[in-house]
Amino acid sequence: MALRSGGAGLNPVLNYIDGQFVESHSGKTLLTVNPATGEPLAEVARSNGEDVEAATQAALTASASWSATTLEQRVKWLHTIADALEAKSETIARLESLDTGKPISLARRVDASRSVSNFRFFASMGEDDTSPTFSDHGAINYVHRTPVGCVGLITPWNLPLYLLTWKVAPALLMGNTIVAKPSELTPLTAHLLAETLHELEFPKGVFNLVNGYGPEVGQAIVEHPSIGGISFTGGTSTGRIVAATAAPMFKKLSLELGGKNATILLDDAPLDSIMDEIVRASFTNSGQVCLCGSRILVHESIYEAFIDAFTAKVSALKVGDPMNEATQMGSVISMDHRDKVEAYITLGLEEGGNILTGGTSTQAPLADMPEQGAFLRPTVFANLPISSRTATEEIFGPVVTVHTFASDEEAITMANATDYGLAGSVWTADIQRGHTFARNVESGIVWVNTWLNRDLRTPFGGVKQSGVGREGGRWSMDFFSELTNICIRQP
Ligand code: NAD
Repeated sequence: MALRSGGAGLNPVLNYIDGQFVESHSGKTLLTVNPATGEPLAEVARSNGEDVEAATQAALTASASWSATTLEQRVKWLHTIADALEAKSETIARLESLDTGKPISLARRVDASRSVSNFRFFASMGEDDTSPTFSDHGAINYVHRTPVGCVGLITPWNLPLYLLTWKVAPALLMGNTIVAKPSELTPLTAHLLAETLHELEFPKGVFNLVNGYGPEVGQAIVEHPSIGGISFTGGTSTGRIVAATAAPMFKKLSLELGGKNATILLDDAPLDSIMDEIVRASFTNSGQVCLCGSRILVHESIYEAFIDAFTAKVSALKVGDPMNEATQMGSVISMDHRDKVEAYITLGLEEGGNILTGGTSTQAPLADMPEQGAFLRPTVFANLPISSRTATEEIFGPVVTVHTFASDEEAITMANATDYGLAGSVWTADIQRGHTFARNVESGIVWVNTWLNRDLRTPFGGVKQSGVGREGGRWSMDFFSELTNICIRQP
């Protein structure tokens, strides 16, 4: 089989197993598409359980020598990888923009930069790591970390390299070997990471990459008896399948899943100064960030003022060619996903909502965009019941619903009226009220007067159907290691 390079002059995307770039065992491929143009991008190895088996065997073999390296050696590797990726920042941004349809400026600012800082951050965690000790009953206890072994890392399409490196860096730091699977829709930057490791002569078999579809590759990773831990980021329905497979095998499991996050504006919220942030929280990456606020809850006393200012700003967002530096919103991830988002816009109308701006691609067409480009204008709904499907199910696109409340208690009840609990934000001039709200919202993260303000040392994850477990800082280190308490008494 000869893999074609696709339309953008890109190399074929191969698997990376035991330090070698290889085609899939079956010889099958899949084709990725640039969602902003509909043109083919790259031909990708379409793998199955045989490829996962080969990758796992390579990872298990490499485990003996990699787990025997010192923490200092692994920290040094993370710095080296960060340097190498940093030198490729512009390429990362371009590939991410081609693969996802996101604006190049966003890919540069968020995806490329965070992929580098994930490695740097976990290197610094390794430099500062101290084992806790406890002494009592005439004995000293200390905690000794060992790697889990070979871990499976499965990631989605919205922040491809950002989310993959968020798992790869701590997994390597803790001495694990890896079988990774990026989304079949966005494999380009995972491949670039493999190329980078190859150029650096990173030890063979420590990082293995298997491309393909979820049910064919992801499922085989989750099922593999020798893969001891699974870190999965993706949709809640997929997470349910992953949990059902992995839990009876007693694997370590981290699930970072969907969200339907609330953005809550209290009556004292300073509208003028926060409006840009509220727009950013709603429509960054076309609303395809798990942390985006897709339900905006506004105190009734400021509702009219909010709606006027918000709708004006949202209508003025520049939607278009992702490669144009001025573009603020590109396409969504695929035509299929556009269909899904449009079905929710239609549903929102059926459920009694009013569209204040935006709509489906037919209702609110974008001039000059390719017919096969998956573009949508940002859409704002008013007048929908908080219990409507549009306001409770994850759309994961550029659609927000706006609702009013009369009291703080009502706002909290509304914020908690979903099956999800990933993130939320509260906007108020009174920090004390902000604290109270934050403690009552059922959510893994609550921001007060800010959004997507991430300190990588903090725990990250969701409650309810948004996930199980936490990643970030020492929580990632705990996930990617086994802790042995060693208790010593003098003879
Ligand atoms: P998805 O669940 O469809 O796919 C995620 C990954 O799982 C992909 O690599 C996919 O191929 C793989 N997969 C599919 N079926 C599988 C199976 N049976 N076994 C193992 N792996 C399988 O999600 P998506 O559409 O790629 O991403 C969007 C979703 O991800 C949204 O719901 C979003 O909220 C969520 N997300 C969550 C976070 C978070 O940190 N909580 C971050 C980003 C995205």
